Amino acid sequence: MSRYPFARINLTALQHNLQQVRYYAPHSKIMSVIKADAYGHGVIEIAKALEQTDAFAVARLKEALILRQHGFKQPITIFEGVSTIEEWQLAAEYDLTLVLHQQQHLDYLLTAKLNKPLPFIWLMLETGMHRLGLAEQHIRQIIDQFTGRTDLVDEIGLMSHFANSDLLNDTRNQQQIMVMQRLAETTGLPVCMANSAAIISLPQSHYQWVRPGLMLYGASPFAYKTGAQLGLKPVMQLVSKLIATQQLKAGDEVGYGGQWTADQSMRMGVVSIGYGDGYSRHLSNAGKVIIRGKEVPVIGRVSMDTVCVNLDACPQAQLEDEVVIWGTDALAVEWLAEKAGTIPYELLCCVTPRVNREYLHG
Ligand SMILES: *Cc1c(COP(=O)(O)O)cnc(C)c1O
Repeated sequence: MSRYPFARINLTALQHNLQQVRYYAPHSKIMSVIKADAYGHGVIEIAKALEQTDAFAVARLKEALILRQHGFKQPITIFEGVSTIEEWQLAAEYDLTLVLHQQQHLDYLLTAKLNKPLPFIWLMLETGMHRLGLAEQHIRQIIDQFTGRTDLVDEIGLMSHFANSDLLNDTRNQQQIMVMQRLAETTGLPVCMANSAAIISLPQSHYQWVRPGLMLYGASPFAYKTGAQLGLKPVMQLVSKLIATQQLKAGDEVGYGGQWTADQSMRMGVVSIGYGDGYSRHLSNAGKVIIRGKEVPVIGRVSMDTVCVNLDACPQAQLEDEVVIWGTDALAVEWLAEKAGTIPYELLCCVTPRVNREYLHG
């Protein structure tokens, strides 16, 4: 049975990228972000390969519980926090680290009877993103409320998130750091602020903990720099194969809606990858693939299971040839994301379960 399309996941590249995080932030502990099935790479295998990390982070309680069920003992932070008494109790039972960003969540915690305290709570400070976060004064009150509450939590820290860390020399980043710095200095609490872009470009934001996501998977968070330029290696290579070829004559239309028309006699190929696999329909008439080392343009609309390509760019192409969809220096997922009008995060997360993941251990 054909294994195509599949995602080749290079765990050696992943470990290399983790080393790069240490190189950029040598004095910080690393919380590896493996939410959304490790950005589409398969969370269990990725978590196993990240044994050198200091901690993990996910978005939701459900994701953290799956990791505990698989036996992972590392600290796991839940970015969204939890919202009910039962969830606080569950989080404590499984030694999970919570982010606190709503007064109501705190009210529930204060009334919850925990069998043992939570190991750690990050207090989410509003520094300028205006998404999840509490004002500085509010955080100071919460710190007071936690004082002496060894029944609730062992340790607390300060967290915040950048809204524009992918933009170099943007003064809003400095403003966010200043708000954090004030509270960090007066409280002396550990701080976690930097995502991938800040790890690379804002060393003042490193503090005690950094939390990389995208860079672990080898993609660049910056529009103006490639992962390779940042010393990163792509972890996912998405590959499929050529399942059909056809000779077209001038005037033949290709695919749904006839959105591409041959202007001369040509050879067209059909690749087994479509939006049902996570290949964005926004790549219609815009993407490219690699066959036998040659860049081959996508023509017509992307279908659910297939995409058509112009084989004039690779006359040697044959049925069953392997086709690289993304994940090489010549065809980075960042480049393709830009063509699709989105970001590499989204393309990686959207690879669907129909695509097998095959893990290379180096
Ligand atoms: C997803 C996420 C990260 C990781 O961001 P990258 O840009 O992928 O490094 C860090 N912090 C929070 C709060 C997140 O939601």
